[in-house]
Amino acid sequence: MKTTLRVLIWFAIAAAVMLGAVWLAERPGTLTAEWRGWRIDTSVGVVLVAVLLLMLLGVVLWLTYRSIVGAPGALLEGWGDSRKRRGYRELTQGLAAVAAGDGPEAQKHARKAQTLLSEPALTLLLSAQAAQLTGDREGAKKAFDAMLEDDQMAFLGLRGLIAQSLRDGDQARALDYAERAFKIRPQTPWVVHSLFDMQAQIGAWRDAQATLDAGLRTKVITQNKGRTLKALLLAERSRASETEGNDGDALTLAREAFALAPERIAVSRRLAEMQFKTGDAKRAMKTLERAWALSPHPDLAQLYLKASGESDPLKQVGVARKLVASKPDDLESQLVMAQASLDAGLWGEARRYLQAAGGTSPPVRVCRLMAEVEERAQSDQAKVHEWLAKAAVAPADKAWRCSACGAHHESWRSVCESCGAFGTLHWRAPGTYGQILPPDPTAKPALTTMNTVYTTSGG
Ligand SMILES: [Zn+2]
Repeated sequence: MKTTLRVLIWFAIAAAVMLGAVWLAERPGTLTAEWRGWRIDTSVGVVLVAVLLLMLLGVVLWLTYRSIVGAPGALLEGWGDSRKRRGYRELTQGLAAVAAGDGPEAQKHARKAQTLLSEPALTLLLSAQAAQLTGDREGAKKAFDAMLEDDQMAFLGLRGLIAQSLRDGDQARALDYAERAFKIRPQTPWVVHSLFDMQAQIGAWRDAQATLDAGLRTKVITQNKGRTLKALLLAERSRASETEGNDGDALTLAREAFALAPERIAVSRRLAEMQFKTGDAKRAMKTLERAWALSPHPDLAQLYLKASGESDPLKQVGVARKLVASKPDDLESQLVMAQASLDAGLWGEARRYLQAAGGTSPPVRVCRLMAEVEERAQSDQAKVHEWLAKAAVAPADKAWRCSACGAHHESWRSVCESCGAFGTLHWRAPGTYGQILPPDPTAKPALTTMNTVYTTSGG
């Protein structure tokens, strides 16, 4: 279509030129030229036509010259195009190989793409992933390091380096990379979560709090989650202050923490501990009563009895009753009452509380306490054995369990020893999170996250 139009235009121009030439040649007037014995007599029109023809010839010659000289460049251009095309094809195939988990194949394509393309950033990413797949840590690190040079790719490079450092167990280096990534993109969720967890893992509570505040500002962390995490950080800072011998600060920090999340057992216990330590046993007991109503735990009961200063076992029963008054039917309340009754030698009372606590399928703690009651009440040894046998097959007790990895811990700690998550330990029976994930061997080096924090009760 285009060529036809061009031919038509050329044809029209040629016709116009010919008509013009004829018209010009017919113009009146003569011209005489003499040069070295030559003499030309002609009309003005013919001379004008000759000049026009000469100009046309010049244009044709120039166009011919251009097409001949320009040819190699055009050829080269076409060659470069196909080179680029081949490079991108290698890149695509390499990425497909990465997606398919074929390391050696990906590496092969990465090498080819590197020689064909002048885009280091893209080929570096492929090289890094290919190296990771084949387990070539040095190669991967080199590629990630090279990515840091490129502004566009630096963030991706840092992500790779963080993951690799964590896998190598190099916490300090991972933290350094995470800080750099946070500077580049403070609103990216995985960066905020990883940095926060890493800072918490090394006990850098103030830094972790700064990261948390930034996460709250950018809405990467929800208000509710942020509230409990902040309370737990404050409780840790309170503990650190106490270790440094600064009980005043420790009490203030514990109070701030309790105001934020009184439902977290670790937080309420911290405040009660500090209140008791600084000589305010009455206030400590008030704190524990409030905490019991929200989330009862044996540690709180133990602290309550200690703060009461009551050493007479019979009177301790009365003290315990006051603590559990807000939640008399809770399993923890019944267990506290059973233990206090047992200590006071009130076998009948103890049995009654344990029967109420156990229901149709008493958990391990209830069975063990029952056996102890029968033992101390000097009942039939057969009864003792019966309860011990029941304990062996009873449903598991509540314990400190990580909501992120399901790991079980003997005592409370803010950072899970198994997966490194912060604030994920809760006082729960197994299976009460919906699904307890089996320990995942890849969970530890993964970019850890602030996993689900339960705020209604427990923990
Ligand atoms: Zn965990």
